[in-house]
Amino acid sequence: MQVYKGIYLLDGVGFDSNIYIIDGEVIVDTGTGAFFKETKEEMLKLGLKPKKFKLIVNTHCHFDHTGGDKKFRDWLKAKIAIHKKDKRSLETGKNTLAELFDEKARAITADIELDKKDIIKTKNFSFEVIPTPGHTPGSICLYEKKKRILISGDTIFTDGIGRTDYPGGSKRDLINSIEKLAKLRVDCLLPGHGMPKTVGAGFLIKQILATA
Ligand SMILES: [Zn+2]
Repeated sequence: MQVYKGIYLLDGVGFDSNIYIIDGEVIVDTGTGAFFKETKEEMLKLGLKPKKFKLIVNTHCHFDHTGGDKKFRDWLKAKIAIHKKDKRSLETGKNTLAELFDEKARAITADIELDKKDIIKTKNFSFEVIPTPGHTPGSICLYEKKKRILISGDTIFTDGIGRTDYPGGSKRDLINSIEKLAKLRVDCLLPGHGMPKTVGAGFLIKQILATA
C-alpha cells in the first residue's frame, strides 16, 4: 500500500520486517527473503521497474531485515548500504540472529557504508541518515525533513521501543537515540514492523519516550 505519495509499504508477514520502497528507486530493508517471490510479483504489479532501483538500504543487520538482501540485489542489480557499525555483522552473518528464525545467516558484502549526515536521494525525496544506536550498534533511521517522514527500523514502533537484549544492544543508547528523534518534526512514522502512523507521529514519539 502507498503510505505516502511515492512511498510503498510491503507489509512484513510473521517475523519479516516491513519493506519500504521510495520512488521506485530505493528499497529500505528486505525481510527474511522467505517471501521474495511474492514481494517481487507485488512490486511488478505496482508498476515498479527493476532497472530504476539503485540502492538497498538496511536499517540494521538483523536477519528479519536483511535476509532478502542477496535475492533483491541479484534481481535489481542494486547496491547494498548499511551503517558502518553493522557492516561487519552483515558481512560475517554474526549477530544477525538468523538462528532465531531457524535460518543460516546469509553473509553479504555491503557496497556502501553509511554514517551520519549521509543523504539517500531519490527523485522526490531526500532522506538523511540518522545513526540511532541501541537496538544494534549500527541501527539507523532515515529522516525526510521537508516532508517530515521518519523511517525508524527497529528503533521505535508505533506502540513502543525496540528490544535491547540482543548482542550489541544498549537500552541507554536506545533512549538517547529516541531523545534525538523526539526533537525532530515528524508527521509520518514508518517503522520496521507493524503499521505506520501517517499523521501526528511526533507527539507519539514523545509519548513513547516518556514511558520508555
Ligand atoms: Zn532488529
